[in-house]
Amino acid sequence: CDWGDCYPVSPDHVDWSVHFPKFFPSDGKDELLLNTSEYPIQYPQTSVRPECSGKAGCHQVRFLDVGCGFGGLLMALSPKYPNTLMLGMEIREQVTNYVGKRIQAMRQGAEGEPSHHNVSVIRTNAMKFLPNYFRKGQLEKMFFCFPDPHFKRKNARRRIISYGLLSVYAYLMSPGGLLYHATDVKELHQWMDQACEEHPLFARVPQEEIKDDPCVEAVTSETEESKRVKNLGRFGHDVHLSVFRRISPDG
Ligand code: SAM
Repeated sequence: CDWGDCYPVSPDHVDWSVHFPKFFPSDGKDELLLNTSEYPIQYPQTSVRPECSGKAGCHQVRFLDVGCGFGGLLMALSPKYPNTLMLGMEIREQVTNYVGKRIQAMRQGAEGEPSHHNVSVIRTNAMKFLPNYFRKGQLEKMFFCFPDPHFKRKNARRRIISYGLLSVYAYLMSPGGLLYHATDVKELHQWMDQACEEHPLFARVPQEEIKDDPCVEAVTSETEESKRVKNLGRFGHDVHLSVFRRISPDG
């Protein structure tokens, strides 16, 4: 398929064993399939692995890094949550290939023991296709780290956090799940905060509750963008971070 058409019909049409072969050992595949032209995925037309209908028994992606860039967050979180499947979504072809190869190298033992079997990456437009990949209530954490700011007002609708898209994210998140957003652009931070504040299915998590959260540390110091901001820190740059909980409408 051409770029733009390469997405699964539904979450039942994604064969996760190609992304996490160690977690679906019966298949034993070890290819790099990233949905890029170099590493294409042919999504099946009929549903796969019917036993994994989302109810029980099969692993599912629980953490999603939206616009994962060069993959620093995933690489850092993977060993902290070794039994949790986590996925990066990235729209840029070459960047996705880079992250895929980075993960593959770790799986092949580039830094000692083979590792990072619980992390993978897919090239896709996360603003359009998330419900094609994930089921209702599946995601426990969603990360939006240093998203592109789309400064001009007329481009604000292209922002990856908006009231409308938050409804999609809320649908895909489990009640109690956490949404993290971080940026060094103050105006964007206020925009994302306001959208989350106004949405009835999200509530701010107080600083006190997140101060020991290992994900907060990773978001603010392990992503490539956070490292860039830290380097600029002496010039007054700062990371703004908020965490919101997916709440049930009836409390
Ligand atoms: N999260 C990374 C970090 O903190 O280092 C990368 C931040 S970078 C400024 C924003 C990333 O989001 C870029 O790699 C960009 O290609 C990606 N991106 C932008 N829009 C996207 C979309 N609709 N779907 C998936 N990725 C997207």
